[in-house]
Amino acid sequence: MSESSAAAAEAVAARFEELYGSAPDGVWAAPGRVNLIGEHTDYNDGFVMPFALPHTAVAAVSRRDDGVLRLHSADVEGPVVELTVDGLTPESDKRWTAYPAGVVWALREAGHAVTGADVHLASTVPSGAGLSSSAALEVVVALALNDLFGLGLRGWQLARLSQRAENVYVGAPVGIMDQTASACCEAGHALFLDTRDLSQRQIPFDLAAEGMRLLVVDTQVKHSHSEGEYGKRREGCEKGAALLGVDALRDVPYEELDAALVRLGDDEEVRRLVRHVVTEDHRVEQVVSLLESGDTRAIGPLLIEGHASLRDDFRVSCPELDLVVDTAVTAGALGARMTGGGFGGSAIVLAEEADVPVITKAVEEAFASAGFKTPRVFEAVPSAGARRVR
Ligand code: ADP
Ligand code: MG
Repeated sequence: MSESSAAAAEAVAARFEELYGSAPDGVWAAPGRVNLIGEHTDYNDGFVMPFALPHTAVAAVSRRDDGVLRLHSADVEGPVVELTVDGLTPESDKRWTAYPAGVVWALREAGHAVTGADVHLASTVPSGAGLSSSAALEVVVALALNDLFGLGLRGWQLARLSQRAENVYVGAPVGIMDQTASACCEAGHALFLDTRDLSQRQIPFDLAAEGMRLLVVDTQVKHSHSEGEYGKRREGCEKGAALLGVDALRDVPYEELDAALVRLGDDEEVRRLVRHVVTEDHRVEQVVSLLESGDTRAIGPLLIEGHASLRDDFRVSCPELDLVVDTAVTAGALGARMTGGGFGGSAIVLAEEADVPVITKAVEEAFASAGFKTPRVFEAVPSAGARRVR
């Protein structure tokens, strides 16, 4: 554990003791994530490839056996929120507390005897930037309860239950990628995840060792139409699968894409969505094989192609994200693409270490000239998944 994460664990534990009057049973951490490649593939049963950020949600937790659940966040104003585990009802809570409470609900609903807890948490994962602060929150609580109640659940099971908490209790229709990344990633690796059967493989992705860096550029914008547009893309993909007679677009082999597009006839909208999903799954497989053969620099063009596909075919980019990608590539980046759902949020940039200052400056200047909000740029080191830290 790094010195800074030890200090964070210490601070969260100390605040827990102030709030609840005794030291916590333990402290756990779970990271946010970025997706290297594989966008809008998860609800098509396809492939994704996230890696964990060094930014984490850290939770100090003690077990309770009296049915009481007390929740507090250092990052949200207000007193401790007190709930009862018997009283937890899906979609009844519009506050941040729905995420940790939803995890308790999902565990209990799955038959696990979670009888209450005191929780205090603090997070360094930027919220609402497409970096999965919500999954970090869910997974850190799930892991803490798994340990404290001796549930013996594996990472992928904690991810599933956390996803259920967000889908059903919070009421947000998210895929399985974010929670799996937070629960299962390993340092120096990206996680190749098949969202159909949840099989996963750790893929070497130790950029620093090879003289490269990966930047995250958080545009700090979120365009308001994003949710409605997300729903439309999902429906369009379902329509495409139905027209092609497959369960999900994942079932259309890359080699049969041209024939599939012909069969879709003149429904241009659906043709574009299908083309993105099928080519994107193929790009993920290409990235996996390049990384496994040690040819990391060669993934750059695939990132750029992936962005073009999201921009032109899937149509979920926006001027800010396009500006990051175009500027970074012109300034010498190996590759760049939007990451996450789109319409704002963050982009990633793969670059030689020596080129990072020039690229960062170019992006900042381009944003200033365009009159956009100053983006937040930081380096993403592929980091560890959820773990106990104290
Ligand atoms: P993302 O997961 O991309 O960051 P979401 O909208 O899915 O965005 O999740 C953000 C929400 O998660 C916040 O609105 C808040 O309710 C909750 N959240 C994130 N971080 C914290 C935190 N440190 N403390 C309390 N709630 C948090
Ligand atoms: Mg989220």
